[in-house]
Amino acid sequence: MTNATHDPARQSWIESANELGCDFPIQNLPFGVFEGEDGAGRIGVAIGRQVLDVTAAIETGALALEGEAACALCAESLNDFMALGPDVWHRVRVAIGDLLDAESPRQDRLVRPMVETVMRLPADIGDYTDFYAARHHATNVGRMFRPDGEPLMPNWLHLPVGYHGRASSVVVSGTDIMRPHGQLKPDDGPPAFGPCRLLDYELEFGAFIGTGNPMGSRVAIGEASDRLFGVVILNDWSARDVQKWEYQPLGPFNAKNFASTISPWVVTMEALEPYRSHGPARAADDPPLLDYLTPTGASRDAIDVQAVVTLSSAAMRGAGTAPVQLSRGTLADLSWSFAQMLAHHTSTGCPMRPGDLIGSGTVSGPEKESRGCLLELTWRGTEPIDLPDGTQRRFLQDGDELTIAAWCEREGAGRVGFGTCSGVVLPAN
Ligand code: CA
Repeated sequence: MTNATHDPARQSWIESANELGCDFPIQNLPFGVFEGEDGAGRIGVAIGRQVLDVTAAIETGALALEGEAACALCAESLNDFMALGPDVWHRVRVAIGDLLDAESPRQDRLVRPMVETVMRLPADIGDYTDFYAARHHATNVGRMFRPDGEPLMPNWLHLPVGYHGRASSVVVSGTDIMRPHGQLKPDDGPPAFGPCRLLDYELEFGAFIGTGNPMGSRVAIGEASDRLFGVVILNDWSARDVQKWEYQPLGPFNAKNFASTISPWVVTMEALEPYRSHGPARAADDPPLLDYLTPTGASRDAIDVQAVVTLSSAAMRGAGTAPVQLSRGTLADLSWSFAQMLAHHTSTGCPMRPGDLIGSGTVSGPEKESRGCLLELTWRGTEPIDLPDGTQRRFLQDGDELTIAAWCEREGAGRVGFGTCSGVVLPAN
């Protein structure tokens, strides 16, 4: 349900937050961690083109919070705050909204320009799991990798397929990505070791777990949404040639463990409330869901987030050419919601902890322009993309900068943005 914090008419004394098309209006208030003058992490909230120093706001008394919420927000990461649950998150959102409201006194000493602020990972990510929840992506990949069989594996319609990823290689937007080495197996020869040749991106979103669950307990589907703290953009960089050779029978391993980039600002589930939707309907001949994965009541667990992926080669940036759009997608195209992923993940009693990250899997829709990675867009390299610098792309080249921007927009609710998630590919070392 929406509340006064979502009122689209509300404005802030930070003028840039009131501009049309702004990612971070007062209705958004996403949390992140920035580098303070002493080199330590500090919790901030994005507002317009400024960052509110939450710790300073608490210490000066401008933000009237006490007890565990105040303690958690003066930490170097968001984990402690994520652990406190939806009631506390809501109280803090209300308090920060009041502090930044146009009717409240200006407190310019509490904000700093975003452009001069160095962002860090928002949380200490203990565990990272990546799912495979978009039907069109799973179908396209199945067609390419198993042309003779059914594109969807028999389990796909019954459960959200995933694999345990590598939390240590999750980096914040702006971090350079080194082309990985790996074992590559050409179709007509023995395996060889060398730099990945088929480097790809994957347009995804990630959800941060807020309150965790003790080992041995299951998160019920009806409670799963309340356990989620918020959402970021995720680029799951992928070494397709490594993946093709290694993935059977245990799934992705080194193809996915060298880097995954996330956007720095965590847009809270409460800020996303006006943009919830039902998601794509299951087809008439799809099997029924088991009870533990069946949404309860009038659950609207999908979220209408729009995303655009752009690429800029080193030559294009040198010549001042604008980036080219590769694809666009929407998180509402996912067949499995984050709530279903969490219910399934914990169905064994697997403990989740505050700050754990779950990835959606590549977000692809039915049209060619909504394919969420180069593997699909160029159909395994057979349909290359022309760039303005005269070169072609089947997969990513050294020097390429890949950027994903995302936002929610709905009539009567205004717009909240995620900022961007970007990285430049460096040559293999
Ligand atoms: Ca992925």
